[in-house]
Amino acid sequence: MIETAIYIHIPFCDHKCIYCDFYSITPLDKKDDYLKALKKEIEFYSRSYSEEREIISIYFGGGTPSLMEPAYISEIIECVKSHFNVNPDAEITLETNPGTVNKSKMNEFKGIGINRVSVGIQSFNNAELKFLTRIHDASAAEKTIFYAYDAGIENINADLIFNLPGQNIEKWSRSLERAISLPVKHISAYSLILEPGTILNKMVLDGRVKVEGEDTDAELYEHTIELLARHGFEQYEVSNFALNGYECRHNNAYWHYKNYLGFGTSAHSFNGTKRWWNYTGLSFYLNNALTGGNAVAGSETLTAEQKREEYIMLALRSRGLIIQEFVSIFGGDWFEQNSSLIDELKQTGLLTEAGGVVKLTPKGYVICDEILARLA
Ligand code: SF4
Repeated sequence: MIETAIYIHIPFCDHKCIYCDFYSITPLDKKDDYLKALKKEIEFYSRSYSEEREIISIYFGGGTPSLMEPAYISEIIECVKSHFNVNPDAEITLETNPGTVNKSKMNEFKGIGINRVSVGIQSFNNAELKFLTRIHDASAAEKTIFYAYDAGIENINADLIFNLPGQNIEKWSRSLERAISLPVKHISAYSLILEPGTILNKMVLDGRVKVEGEDTDAELYEHTIELLARHGFEQYEVSNFALNGYECRHNNAYWHYKNYLGFGTSAHSFNGTKRWWNYTGLSFYLNNALTGGNAVAGSETLTAEQKREEYIMLALRSRGLIIQEFVSIFGGDWFEQNSSLIDELKQTGLLTEAGGVVKLTPKGYVICDEILARLA
């Protein structure tokens, strides 16, 4: 059986946040057409990808999937289940934004099979939330965590952003510590990225907002790793930390180079050799998926060298490079060619090797991109 993860993109949002470059739209008038298109796409791909395949996770990302009614999400889950072999223990995650759910809606989400929620908190500082133009305050974020917990969803992630304008270690620690004090099992901590085309980027270019520099970013990141480790959150990817047994299975599918199928606008898929991606714009997506069953905008077939590079990059960003597994797939040449560089990185405390696994150290994670560029 080929273990496969399924991603479903729900592009609808209450409004556009100033820093966001995900594909999201606010009018909901096409949501029924979108549901029809998703079902068509799921059915289309099941013809080629349901045999000998086991679905280990379903992930609703966005956009704001929690803006939709539980019945809407349920129809999609049931459609996947009726066309694919879904493991009864599959992880089913819903990205959830505070301000879009209440207690009874969360109970309904649990009732339709959601067993993991990823809550878009971003900060527990109300001024920072206002700056980010989030629709919620810190207390709504906290309530959302408890709605999930009380509904019996124990696998809860808190998404947080650091290196916000004016942020220092004290402010950031308060957000992190408040998250840790709640019943969350997983924390994703991302550095604020200025994406071209966003309102925030324009504000920075116009001189209306001043962002913190790389030194502050590195300082806050190092502090994050250290503080979360002290509270039992193991870093299993550059930006992701989990208590024992709560690593995200869906994200691990990407990082462990497993197959994944993505449905909806801008969703990506990978079958081990080929990667393809859907149209981003809603009307292109709807036209293609509703008439032909798929909405592929482009694809690439990976060369052996590309696969090796991607594998190295993903492994080093997450669980580390398992030497035996790597050599069995790609041969031993790469290790031979890079042995002196790997030794140098080990001696400078950026890489470790233990039990046949080469991993980044916390110090290495801070300059992860630089190390990966040298190794690739
Ligand atoms: S809620 Fe999330 S996806 Fe929607 S605009 Fe804000 S950051 Fe983007």
